[in-house]
Amino acid sequence: MLDLVDFHSHFPSPNAMVCTAFPLESHALQKDAQPLMRFEGLLPQYWSIGRWEILKTHLLESDIHLGEIGLDRRFAGAVPLDRQFENLTMMIRYAYSLGKKVTIHSVQATELTIRAIKEASLPSFSVLWHGFTGSKETARQLYDSGVLIGIGPRFHGDLPAITTANPSWVLETDYEGTDENQYNEILSSCYASAAKRLGMVLDEVKEHCYGQAQAFADKPIPRR
Ligand SMILES: [Zn+2]
Repeated sequence: MLDLVDFHSHFPSPNAMVCTAFPLESHALQKDAQPLMRFEGLLPQYWSIGRWEILKTHLLESDIHLGEIGLDRRFAGAVPLDRQFENLTMMIRYAYSLGKKVTIHSVQATELTIRAIKEASLPSFSVLWHGFTGSKETARQLYDSGVLIGIGPRFHGDLPAITTANPSWVLETDYEGTDENQYNEILSSCYASAAKRLGMVLDEVKEHCYGQAQAFADKPIPRR
């Protein structure tokens, strides 16, 4: 039932905005799966010109969006952070030129990632920062730049403070498995846990996320 929207998943569910870590990742090839929105990305550790060329072609020739892409300090030894930054900026600009949405992944590189987003000066509701674990100041900075923040199972911070700082918060599973039942359980528990931590009723949380999905997607989101 599509009243729970998952803003970031690697499992091709009709409830989800599905992302990949690099082009042609196996689940992305499940053509019969009909996710809410389909993204294809290229994380820094998988960077190559060849993969970027493939991704560019896919972006140009289909209705996919770009993600996940970003900066990851854990891989700075293999791809230096300034190089990651150049690649990220270039990819964001390319997506923007095609009117595509972008899902961002950022690990231990918050300031630099914000700089890359700001330099591209994208319109509001174009960028989703997935797996947000930052401070309320960062959440606010992202809100001021029109960036949605995805709250997933790994978020253990002060949810009321973060969601006040960035009212464009959304929920995500970041599920990488293949078990549909397990996936649905995790998605439901993301919503239940957010409702509890925010002192909201579940329907309010669903309504909020549905509204954000409408604003973020390029197409009307059906309700079943
Ligand atoms: Zn992911």
